[in-house]
Amino acid sequence: MDNITSIFREKKLKLTPQRIAVYKYLKSTKEHPSAEMIYKALQPEYPTMSLATVYKALKTLVEVGLVQEINVGEGNFRYDGNATSHPHIQCISCSKVDDLENLDLTNLNKDAESYSKYTILSNKVYFYGICEDCQQK
Ligand SMILES: [Zn+2]
Ligand SMILES: [Zn+2]
Repeated sequence: MDNITSIFREKKLKLTPQRIAVYKYLKSTKEHPSAEMIYKALQPEYPTMSLATVYKALKTLVEVGLVQEINVGEGNFRYDGNATSHPHIQCISCSKVDDLENLDLTNLNKDAESYSKYTILSNKVYFYGICEDCQQK
């Protein structure tokens, strides 16, 4: 795991216990949790931390680029401790969000460029399907 202290120092972020807890949690999971899910998961260890505090910590972490915000089309955001651009897939049955690792979308940028007059810098791609567990139900 990365050294949080040095990362925060580099980003000139104050090392508050709340920010550390939220960041550590996101680094430890691949679940792409929502703020509410993070709040619930941290409750036992940080009983005094409010949902508003979790939101504030997330906002800061997103701003400095340590965490990415994912909008799969639900009413709320999901959060990812992996801030590099990568495609996601969501199960339309249980609504879990997974990473689609190793799928290279560089060509997609080039294709999009050839159909527009833009210089494409990035993309956000979400796939939707039925996960393995739900297929067996
Ligand atoms: Zn599912
Ligand atoms: Zn992800």
